[in-house]
Amino acid sequence: MRPRQAVALTLQSAATYLKGAGPALAMRLRALNIERVQDLLFHLPTRYEDRRNAVALNALKDGEEMLVRGRVSQADVRYAGRRSLRVLLDDDKGTLLLRFFHFNEQQKKSFEAGRWVMAYGTVRFGSQGWEIVHPQYRVAESAEALKSEDKLTPIYPLTTGITQAKLGTLVAQALDVATRDLAFNLALPGLTGPDTLAALRAIHRPASDADAALLLQMQHPAQKRLIHEELLAHQLCMRMLRNAVKSRPAQPLSAAAVAQKHLQDVLPFKFTGAQERVMGDIAKDIAAKRPMLRLIQGDVGSGKTVVAAVAMLAAARAGWQAALMAPTELLAEQHYINFTKWFGPLGFEVVFLAGKLKKSQKEKLLARVAAGEVPLLIGTHAVFQDTVRFQKLALVVVDEQHRFGVQQRLALRDKGPKMLTPHQLIMSATPIPRTLAQTLYADLDVSVIDELPPGRTPVVTVAMSNERRPDVLARIGEVCAQGRQAYWVCTLVEESEHLEAQAAEETAETLRKELPQLKVGLVHGRMKPDEKETAMRAFKLGETQLLVATTVIEVGVDVPNASIMIIENAERLGLSQLHQLRGRVGRGAVESQCVLMYQSPISNNARQRLAVMRATNDGFQIAQQDLELRGPGEILGRRQTGLIGLKVADPVRDAALIPALQQLADDWLTQYPREAKQLITRWVGDVEKYAQV
Ligand code: ADP
Ligand code: MG
Repeated sequence: MRPRQAVALTLQSAATYLKGAGPALAMRLRALNIERVQDLLFHLPTRYEDRRNAVALNALKDGEEMLVRGRVSQADVRYAGRRSLRVLLDDDKGTLLLRFFHFNEQQKKSFEAGRWVMAYGTVRFGSQGWEIVHPQYRVAESAEALKSEDKLTPIYPLTTGITQAKLGTLVAQALDVATRDLAFNLALPGLTGPDTLAALRAIHRPASDADAALLLQMQHPAQKRLIHEELLAHQLCMRMLRNAVKSRPAQPLSAAAVAQKHLQDVLPFKFTGAQERVMGDIAKDIAAKRPMLRLIQGDVGSGKTVVAAVAMLAAARAGWQAALMAPTELLAEQHYINFTKWFGPLGFEVVFLAGKLKKSQKEKLLARVAAGEVPLLIGTHAVFQDTVRFQKLALVVVDEQHRFGVQQRLALRDKGPKMLTPHQLIMSATPIPRTLAQTLYADLDVSVIDELPPGRTPVVTVAMSNERRPDVLARIGEVCAQGRQAYWVCTLVEESEHLEAQAAEETAETLRKELPQLKVGLVHGRMKPDEKETAMRAFKLGETQLLVATTVIEVGVDVPNASIMIIENAERLGLSQLHQLRGRVGRGAVESQCVLMYQSPISNNARQRLAVMRATNDGFQIAQQDLELRGPGEILGRRQTGLIGLKVADPVRDAALIPALQQLADDWLTQYPREAKQLITRWVGDVEKYAQV
């Protein structure tokens, strides 16, 4: 074996060859998507901490992260409520309390009166004055011994077992490797600002000059440059994937207008104008010889299902097969029931690939699908497993798109008969502003159903503090006595499925005691899928009257008889999530209610959010407000932004850059295909892995 030092590192070397990285770290780095040295360069700080100047104790600001320095005037352990260590600091201008709930004897001893402490953390103004809970800190005998940093401290996304310091040293080595690599700085036609290497240096190792303010605001030219690079790479990638699908042949399905008329004839309601418009978009797409790649966006209850049904009917009428994939078994069953009702009279069989089918039943069914005898197949993602073969699949519909990523969508193309790629229709109930859709769904055409079917009574929303729980219970009792049903949604601020499940279980227990006349059901994310299904089904059938649930009910389950929803801790949820939850009621003819419960006192911002919920039922308006109130990045939740995995760019904050970059991406694809691939590899990773483009 060669000694490690002898290996000349390149950007493509495994990151584990770096000094201080060994094999033990490999797995942890992989959890951060870091395999090669180059990946470290693009593992960018998500923010900076400013530990350059200690703030005087009379200049503290509530809610801000700050560096402070003071003399210990007193340190003691209190037992009121929770045991805590309290350290009072003093700097002649003011005082500040440091509080620790987890501490050891040695820590306690170190805070000797008269010693100096430098601490960093979020400052709060509490009932006992200024304080920081669990700060990072150092202790010394004199103030002079506590030097502040002379540069901003970059903060990287971490995983367990890796510290900021460790990542910092690895990144520094990666920068050195990049500096030696003459090929690293690609010329990127059309982009201005510092070159890639200079930008990376400025961001990873901030200089100690006036740039700090810009960096902290993500306004530094280096950040702008990388944001442009990343968004360009993303657009290039999505366009290449789209072009790859669009360049394949598909089966033209021409009679969508006829299908629309036939379906209208068996439906008890008339299509809305918005539905007809979107059906028109789809009809045009599927009549073409290239696969449709279309997303339908429409608020909960806007009637996306029938729109998809028309396209499926067009496929069936032409003698082809269509498949619909729903995110849960229960939703699949719901679709199956509706489609059977609609397509039965038209003479088309609908088949449900249910999870509970016996092996022999399933095999028989799959044989019929493979023989092309089944025109319409409905199920969960099981529909697209390898064991399911279609003879003539021409159309795929995916419901509630946010559960499926680009890769899964691309896998669909192999499902069509030889050479033919199925048309793809994706339905999403997450309303997002148009500018954002251009980033998230850059590979899709988008149609919007922006009108609800007539005759809906809007959900009446009220906000109530927890003190009014007795009133809320009484209201639930009344509603259920009238034969209706109720949801009780438990939410926790920490994203712990375990704690949330526990809270739901406890709540269900309490409610059973408080409302003994009601049958109370329970569904949460820690239950097995079939337990969940059973609980949901019992509620759907009216066997339980009050369903205690965590946010797992968010996705499109339809129980029209449920007319009231209580959401606990509503002040902690984002608007979009509240809106999704609320969409579960107001599906029947009676007036429905949504009660947003909160623990007072609540912040101004939370108060505004609740006010928006009371003021409107319009998902797009709510999405826009969410954007303004919560700020960029949060609107979609981690789940969705995670899907497209952006590192520096923010699809909300940077939306205005997109149109120009889309244009640039088109130019690049024709003029600089080689650079395009390099840029994609750098920012997005190995695209070819999932899309042999
Ligand atoms: P979503 O867009 O949330 O998936 P659905 O497709 O489930 O909404 O439709 C919600 C309800 O509205 C269903 O019961 C459906 O039958 C009904 N619906 C759909 N279109 C119309 C319409 N044009 N007029 C009246 N009711 C409709
Ligand atoms: Mg739906």
